[in-house]
Amino acid sequence: MKAAASKEDGDKKRRAAHVSAYAWMMQEMEKMMRWEDNVRKVVPYTPGEQPGDRDIIKLNTNENPYPPAPGVMEALREIRPEDYSLYPDPDASLLRQSLADYHGVSKEQVFVGVGSDDVLAIAFLTFFNGKEPILFPDITYSFYDVWAELYRIPYMTRPLREDFTIDPADYKADCGGVIFPNPNAPTGVLESLAVVEEIVSANPGVVVIVDEAYIDFGGISALPLLSNYENLLIVRTFSKSRSMAGMRIGYAVGNEKLIGYLNDVKFSFNSYTMNLPSLRCGAASIADEAYFQENLQKVIATREWTKGELSRLGFTFADSKSNFIFASHGKVPAKELFEALKEAGIYVRYFGKPRIDNYLRISVGTDESMRRLISFLERYIENR
Ligand code: PMP
Repeated sequence: MKAAASKEDGDKKRRAAHVSAYAWMMQEMEKMMRWEDNVRKVVPYTPGEQPGDRDIIKLNTNENPYPPAPGVMEALREIRPEDYSLYPDPDASLLRQSLADYHGVSKEQVFVGVGSDDVLAIAFLTFFNGKEPILFPDITYSFYDVWAELYRIPYMTRPLREDFTIDPADYKADCGGVIFPNPNAPTGVLESLAVVEEIVSANPGVVVIVDEAYIDFGGISALPLLSNYENLLIVRTFSKSRSMAGMRIGYAVGNEKLIGYLNDVKFSFNSYTMNLPSLRCGAASIADEAYFQENLQKVIATREWTKGELSRLGFTFADSKSNFIFASHGKVPAKELFEALKEAGIYVRYFGKPRIDNYLRISVGTDESMRRLISFLERYIENR
């Protein structure tokens, strides 16, 4: 009897220990869940691949195939070791002043950041704080909805027309702000200054951001509108037309009040966004207009040649005024081409999203890269 009772006791104790271990584990798990409840969960932007392999033909991130102006390399060589031990100028005066002189505005009208992604992210945080949703096209730079989600800014997309142009009537509504690239990405379609002005003038109560990342490749800038519209912010980058994606320089031009607000936000989280090499190299790039124009003309000429060849192979595309072509083939699905190209070491971009899942975005590289792309496509399409 006694032995049986003590066995029962032992079982009870073991069960109790088990139960309390389980309760403890549940409590710990609950704690973990609690901190995870407070995490700002976001689906991040997916940048194009940057494979280390130098042998590939890289036409997937709209970089410029030519080097930056020679003065940029010179500016780098002139930095002395002791320059690195000091903080850079928080006001970024050298770069802001050279951009101001270049565009014929005051330094107080120029804001600079670590690539235009940085400038745009700060602009979203600074200007898009209304209750109404901000508006942007359904097919556009895929970072806009990521920032909106990150900052919890309500947003609505407006469908581009079938030919990928913007219908300005879509932007005549109560909203918290407007943003669109001109030329648009990934379509390459340029809107006229009249369309841009129609959208800016229809929205005097909110900030309209025109993202001119690709404007230098044949577009007409909205800069002349700045004197008439205090709600207009123009954002630009050194990554494409100035061959300096690796240096990370972007900027915004607007009226002094807008730029002042951007600076207040910037100085509220990092005074020294622009490092010393960026400031000096950026100014050196601006100083060499002849090199800049020559470089642009080369990219534009290659783009036009590539358009002709793609048409010959049965591709269709809207008329791109950027450094990429957004093309669709009449017979071969884009995804198949994307994979075949990648297999052959030619990287282009494929988005697989509604309305554009049969398109490839092909950046304009050197003449040689484009010849190799075309000859691969020609062979592939013929032998399929
Ligand atoms: N805007 C658009 C429309 C772009 O395509 C890009 C490049 N991904 C950017 C802004 C950002 O470029 P960056 O940060 O290199 O200036």
